[in-house]
Amino acid sequence: MRKIFLFFGPPGSGKGTQSEAIGEYFHLPVISTGELLRHEEKSGTALGKKIAQLIDKGELVSDELIHKIIVERIKRADTAKGFILDGYPRDAEQLQDLLKMLSEHDLILPVEIRVSDKEVINRLGGRRVCDCGATYHIIYNPPKVAGRCNLCGKELYIRPDDKPEIIKDRLAGYKKSAEPLLAYAKKHHDLISVDGERLISEITEDLIEKLSKYA
Ligand code: ADP
Ligand code: ADP
Ligand code: ZN
Repeated sequence: MRKIFLFFGPPGSGKGTQSEAIGEYFHLPVISTGELLRHEEKSGTALGKKIAQLIDKGELVSDELIHKIIVERIKRADTAKGFILDGYPRDAEQLQDLLKMLSEHDLILPVEIRVSDKEVINRLGGRRVCDCGATYHIIYNPPKVAGRCNLCGKELYIRPDDKPEIIKDRLAGYKKSAEPLLAYAKKHHDLISVDGERLISEITEDLIEKLSKYA
């Protein structure tokens, strides 16, 4: 039986931060569609350029492309015991698509991280990222050396879609699509819902305790 954790929450709720910690704890790979897309973007291919045009404006990439990316990633051997999805599924269509890829023996564990709009703005305004996938916050989770990644030493930067006007659009997009996802999770599975406005370490501990019942 594979364990499949789904992380839900608005942009900036800490899905990336927490899914990395949880993945490490349970020895499961994290599949972040945002990360995979940004990786393709950096490769400089024609597809990468098309992706950048959408992501930088805060718009979604097509379901078809996301489907292809997920199918390819799930084929890899490291997903045999399960995996964590961060940023997917994003709406009801993607959810249906995912369910078709899974078997009835897979255990689906949806996790919701609750955070207010105001906190989203604070967090994304101070988010700094590295090409290697690491994420920091200038106040809440600063790197050891200002502006440099703890893991690889590269220079940190601000994501183009973390501009205030684009954050508003992404937040509105999340609200529209999240409702049916959370409703599905509550109806068919135990939805694990945690307060995301606490210390990063406190939330991780809470999640580990709640998820250990199943893992
Ligand atoms: P998401 O993947 O949901 O967009 P991230 O994990 O990238 O969220 O976190 C968004 C920003 O908020 C990052 O700068 C991160 O360092 C910071 N952050 C994450 N969790 C917390 C927390 N519990 N308290 C304060 N800041 C946080
Ligand atoms: P955040 O962690 O702040 O919520 P992500 O890194 O998950 O943001 O996503 C960044 C961008 O990548 C999204 O705004 C969207 O353009 C694209 N993206 C990521 N996941 C998906 C998806 N499942 N479907 C369509 N587009 C996606
Ligand atoms: Zn780095």
